[in-house]
Amino acid sequence: MTFEELGLSAAVLTAVTDAGYSIPTPIQTQAIPIVLQGRDIIGCAQTGTGKTASFVLPMLDVLAEGRARARMPRSLILEPTRELAMQVAENFTKYGKNLKLNKALLIGGLSFDDQDKIIDRGADVLIATPGRLLDHFERGRLVLSDIKIFVIDEADRMLDMGFIPDVERISGLLPQLRQTLLFSATILPEIRRLADRFMINPKEISVAPSATPVDAVEQGLTIVHGDDKAKRHALRTLIRERAMTGAIIFCNRKKSVDIVYKSLSKHGFTAAGLHGDMSQPARLETLRKFKEGGAQFLVASDVAARGLDITGLPAVINYDVPTHPEDYIHRIGRTARAGQKGNAFTLATPEDGDFVAAIEKMMGRAIPRISVVGLGEVAFAESSGRRRRGRPGGPSPEPRAARVAPLRPQPEKAVTPPPPTPPVQPQPVRFDNQDAAGRDVRPAQQRLDRNDRRRDRYPRDNDPPVVGLGEHVPAFLLRPVVIREEIHEEPSENEEK
Ligand code: AMP
Repeated sequence: MTFEELGLSAAVLTAVTDAGYSIPTPIQTQAIPIVLQGRDIIGCAQTGTGKTASFVLPMLDVLAEGRARARMPRSLILEPTRELAMQVAENFTKYGKNLKLNKALLIGGLSFDDQDKIIDRGADVLIATPGRLLDHFERGRLVLSDIKIFVIDEADRMLDMGFIPDVERISGLLPQLRQTLLFSATILPEIRRLADRFMINPKEISVAPSATPVDAVEQGLTIVHGDDKAKRHALRTLIRERAMTGAIIFCNRKKSVDIVYKSLSKHGFTAAGLHGDMSQPARLETLRKFKEGGAQFLVASDVAARGLDITGLPAVINYDVPTHPEDYIHRIGRTARAGQKGNAFTLATPEDGDFVAAIEKMMGRAIPRISVVGLGEVAFAESSGRRRRGRPGGPSPEPRAARVAPLRPQPEKAVTPPPPTPPVQPQPVRFDNQDAAGRDVRPAQQRLDRNDRRRDRYPRDNDPPVVGLGEHVPAFLLRPVVIREEIHEEPSENEEK
């Protein structure tokens, strides 16, 4: 199948050729003709599959047929984060360069006035995060009655971030006669309900089973004993041993982002930090710097985990094991994009056993254990008894990982040399909540996975409360609050402000 056979116009086809694409990806082959027919779509696809072009390309052709009036945009794309919205806007510019269409990017952290001016001129497409879109609407600057195409992208992420009530509200503000395209990596029941309510006879397309890690990513996990300092030492050793030229390094907390980024800089690496508490201009500038090669390492919170498209990123490092298994999938998906190979390394602590098990269960396979020269001979192959015995439905036991090529560890280049890390004694690796035989010794309730606990606590029709949504107050926050005292994880960081 070629792009020409999909029914796109010459103007769009030229832009696609200029972008260097010759063959449409499976989601593009399936979605483009249906969008051009005007039908609703539920698309089950991960980022990295060419999903964005699958809706942007046909939208450009549909929108090329008319013109927008002042304050009455003709199409709307909702994205869960500012970074994703910016990326989609860049795609619009790239693929729409031969068409005269106006776009408005409505995201938090940027001036309302500038966004108002673009809306006033007439926008063919609005690319927005839900909160900022509603803010514009409530200020009376936006008329949504002319929207003909409505895209809900990354619906599962919208759900995670508590945006589904806002999405429902926005759907209700749009004309009933419209085309709706919904994309999600997984079609969860809440998303299905949204689709049932707001879509008309949608065509369902699916290109990859949900939560399958990109096969092109070579994964490895090493268990680090010791304190935070030992972990930072392990990070530097890993980077040097693998001669890494660039990577996104994911931390679970904003505080860790700052510490790790400063530590890397101190040790002579060019690094930048990115997390949700930074101002929007600072976030944009950091991303720009990293994308243009001005920093080798981007130390980031999960604000950078979804959908970010950085061409040729060779590696991802999980400085912390993500506490939600789906975040692991999204993090490692930043590398090995568009047919390239990539590596994903994880630095685990002995306490991370549950989280690692949850990730492996979700992937249906184990993450190979690797040893890193210079970190001591930690017996990674002697992983938890639970893994050795195998679990029903869990990953099969992994054979001992081949030792990495014994690259010479390089001397530290620190401005101030750190005190030597205490030598790590070889020891069998067992996670804290296991007994000598590797059995899980926690009470039954604690053994339930996070989703089980969420389901227990929040029956199907109740959204769990979400905190910290910045300047916008979504409608669901005004509902009575359910206290989540039994859930001990940190709430996931909220990117949208
Ligand atoms: P997405 O899933 O939309 O985030 O896209 C992932 C990456 O694939 C982006 O870098 C796109 O530029 C690239 N891409 C999209 N369509 C194609 C195609 N047909 N051939 C090659 N690369 C593509």
